[in-house]
Amino acid sequence: MRLLIVEDEKRLADVLKTAFEEKKYMVDVVYDGKDGLDYAESGIYDVIILDVMLPRMNGFEVIKALRDRKIDTPTLILTAKDQLPDKLKGLDLGADDYMTKPFSTEELLMRVRVISRRKGEVVLDEMTYKDLVFNISSSMLSCKDTDKSVHLNFKESELLKLLLARPEVIISKEEIITKVWGYDSDAGDNNVEAYVSFLRRKIGFVGSRVSVISQTKLGYKLGDNQC
Ligand code: CA
Repeated sequence: MRLLIVEDEKRLADVLKTAFEEKKYMVDVVYDGKDGLDYAESGIYDVIILDVMLPRMNGFEVIKALRDRKIDTPTLILTAKDQLPDKLKGLDLGADDYMTKPFSTEELLMRVRVISRRKGEVVLDEMTYKDLVFNISSSMLSCKDTDKSVHLNFKESELLKLLLARPEVIISKEEIITKVWGYDSDAGDNNVEAYVSFLRRKIGFVGSRVSVISQTKLGYKLGDNQC
């Protein structure tokens, strides 16, 4: 799960980052609305936590711009104002939930789980291509023909999901880096190559006929060995 926190109170942002990282989220933090929109537009996040009172662009403007651009990432708004009109405004603009400051971190964690699950319900829990099956919630990779299975770690899972979403289409290394490592990570081609080789080993282990095919200088795609 990848989470974006848009919050200009740095201490609060740090506390939230730590709390979510302990729950195994990958967290990016930005401190103003404009950066929040830029990051969120990448579409790589599973959930966004968005403050309302922010420099450069307020949270309402950010959520409106995202929804106008058809980016439907589940978003929870944090508001210091507990007046009803503000809460309604956020929901009206397309937010999925809101919390009023001050709030308990436990409750925020719980609500983020709920809104991310809401998104998950419309997405299939299983992705398949040929004889290869990946179960998203258990991170188990298996092969229909051999009944063998193996667990994938977080980055292997993210990489495989990206490839399975568009099998037989080349995915560039840049796209892989952005979506698997994050918007401003310093990961490079060698990280991608390493994870592709881990993934190949596991696909080989389950005995699938699918392979991760390299296209020199372009990227990778899933293909069928037996074609
Ligand atoms: Ca604020």
